[in-house]
Amino acid sequence: MVKGEKQKIGFDLDGVLADHKKIKKKTADKNYIYGKASLGAGVMAGARGALKTLGKDHEVFVISRRRPDNRRYARKWLKDNLDFPKNKIFFADRDEDKAKIVKKLGINAFIDDKMSVLKHIKGRTGKFLFDESEVYKKDRYGSIKVVRSLKDFLRLVI
Ligand SMILES: [Mg+2]
Repeated sequence: MVKGEKQKIGFDLDGVLADHKKIKKKTADKNYIYGKASLGAGVMAGARGALKTLGKDHEVFVISRRRPDNRRYARKWLKDNLDFPKNKIFFADRDEDKAKIVKKLGINAFIDDKMSVLKHIKGRTGKFLFDESEVYKKDRYGSIKVVRSLKDFLRLVI
């Protein structure tokens, strides 16, 4: 990442832009959470502000792992809640495939709430772990920086 230059910023969807905490309280079934019920997910605190601010000078992408049959719900949620452009949304089948998309798109900074996703990303991409419940105690794990909020992330990337 070079500050002051136009960056490509990538966001994970579930647990980063979409807040599933309320739905998760009702069910532990992941297929349910990421299926039609995902349309009821909240917008993560700070997400609208972060996308608006970053969108001014940078290019913003969503890279999500959703099963093919659940992708339409992700697209709809992003449109309805964040008016997110369809052509900037990418889907992976597995965690490690997210890293391939990050590389292909030339993403400069990527934020995800799963450590295993970030560990697959090699090269100079800035890696940020979104950990609002403070499961990870340190500020960084190797080249992976831990942020507690999207506001924190914003401060670090621009
Ligand atoms: Mg996630």
